[in-house]
Amino acid sequence: MSAGPEFDTTFASLPDEFYSYTQPIRVANASSIIQNSNLATKLGIDPEWLVSNEALQILAGNQTAMGSAPMAQAYAGHQFGSFNPQLGDGRAHLLGEIVAPNGERFDLQLKGSGPTPYSRRGDGRSPMGPVIREYLISEAMAALGVPTTRSLAAIATGEVVMRQGPTPGAILTRIAPSHIRVGSFEYFAMQGKQDSVKTLADYCIKRHFPQLADHSQPYLSFLNEVIMHQAKLIAQWQGLGFIHGVMNTDNMLICGATVDYGPCAFMDQFDPEKVFSSIDKQGRYRYSQQPGIGQWNLVRLAQALLPILHTNGEQALADAQQALDGYVKHFGSAYQKVMSNKLGFSQPQASDQALTEQLLSIMTEHQLDFTLCFRYLVDQVATDTQHQPIGDVFSAPNELLLWQQQWQQRLAADTQTQAQRYPQMKQANPAFIARNHQVELAIRAAEDQGDYQPFYDLLSVIKAPFEYQPTLKTFALAPLPQEVVQHTFCGT
Ligand code: AMP
Ligand code: MG
Repeated sequence: MSAGPEFDTTFASLPDEFYSYTQPIRVANASSIIQNSNLATKLGIDPEWLVSNEALQILAGNQTAMGSAPMAQAYAGHQFGSFNPQLGDGRAHLLGEIVAPNGERFDLQLKGSGPTPYSRRGDGRSPMGPVIREYLISEAMAALGVPTTRSLAAIATGEVVMRQGPTPGAILTRIAPSHIRVGSFEYFAMQGKQDSVKTLADYCIKRHFPQLADHSQPYLSFLNEVIMHQAKLIAQWQGLGFIHGVMNTDNMLICGATVDYGPCAFMDQFDPEKVFSSIDKQGRYRYSQQPGIGQWNLVRLAQALLPILHTNGEQALADAQQALDGYVKHFGSAYQKVMSNKLGFSQPQASDQALTEQLLSIMTEHQLDFTLCFRYLVDQVATDTQHQPIGDVFSAPNELLLWQQQWQQRLAADTQTQAQRYPQMKQANPAFIARNHQVELAIRAAEDQGDYQPFYDLLSVIKAPFEYQPTLKTFALAPLPQEVVQHTFCGT
């Protein structure tokens, strides 16, 4: 039989206080839900091994892989604005790091694999619903070109977990460039452990930003780099109508990938004040707040790094402030670029902001579907005879038709041709997102009937989000009023 992944876990070289060695807890009756063979190939894991019984037992936590010493990572975090000094992986086990054939290093982590020393009161398990949700949405994000953790496999545990009622349990195998969070830095900073903050920063620089190692102020460069990645990431979310839902500092990765698909969702009808999360009563993490919260989180990172930014405290503060000011600039230009791609412009221009805002306010006023409205614009510039328009899936109100005249004028004055514009717009405006009501259907079928087919069907659609097919119309349609999902829930 083919061999499993080869682990090379550099995180284990860090001092003990960064993690706890802890074994996953065996499950009663592991069975496979899905394996991601394309991702396996990219990671240099043999897809045949991934479907083997050995892989099933390892990814269920029943067996330890060769070379793996499972651990839970320590971190803290600001949750809904309040500091929690002790979080850590409460239901996740890092099996180890693997190096892909292209040289990139990834964490391979089980989520829902049992309690750890950081669990506090939780059971360390995950219901099947959140596993399916994370699998779908993380893979949708990857297909949309958004930096994200990935899903390598999902396994049913054959056990029941108690939440609102009894629910079948599952375990996700999550892949990430690393799981180091803003909260990982806060964990040490708040204990006054500057040496550990420095050790972690050195580790992150080496792992994620090796080009910064010989900068004159490497930690300041590191902060700048994290800020830039985070700004770009959130601009991409905004451009897709994606609401993360729980942007706590323990859910923000230093490497700039989206993580923690709990109460997240793609919006249907556009509403800048949209909140899905059932626990976000104040709307702290609503769509319009995401860019600002991104900066708030980075202020927490900057604070944690202060003592190592500069030996002179005042200078450190000034440097941090300057870096944080850069966030607004980075976000602004990334967002402009995202929007200008969506609208088919070769370069953003100052006057585009008004045009974009007009469009968004028409969308708000007429409660237009975010995804379909932008996709409809792609149909207006299609040059390819193979292009499949969304047709009656979307109908444009008069105000939008009027707006289009201005937009067409702007396009006519642009330097790029229609033939260049079409692929650009198509790649920026998906026909398919992981719609909440479809995700919910897939979860209900899996949890209630043990039927994974709706999950597989939805997954295959969202893996090719930019290619519309009339036969897949159901997946493009906005929900009917009775299908609308108003609230989403954390995995817990
Ligand atoms: P999350 O909401 O997933 O970001 O989790 C916040 C914190 O709660 C993290 O420290 C998790 O490890 C912990 N946690 C969440 N769910 C569970 C669970 N079922 N059992 C133990 N710990 C959990
Ligand atoms: Mg989390």
